[in-house]
Amino acid sequence: MHIGIDTDVCIGAGQCALVSPDVFTQDDDGFGTVRPGRESAHGPLIREAARACPVGAITVTDATPA
Ligand code: SF4
Repeated sequence: MHIGIDTDVCIGAGQCALVSPDVFTQDDDGFGTVRPGRESAHGPLIREAARACPVGAITVTDATPA
């Protein structure tokens, strides 16, 4: 998986960091960021966090080529 956050879209709601604190955190301004080194983490909570984001700023893509 590859996890990305569209920082132009993120409103700093913090849902991602609540749902999956191992992978997401919030920067000093409150915007969601992926923790360093966790961009390719796996787990159901990551997709759950993407769903929880109220503005759909989180993209989770399968890194495996089709
Ligand atoms: S849940 Fe979405 S809007 Fe909220 S901090 Fe995370 S990426 Fe940003």
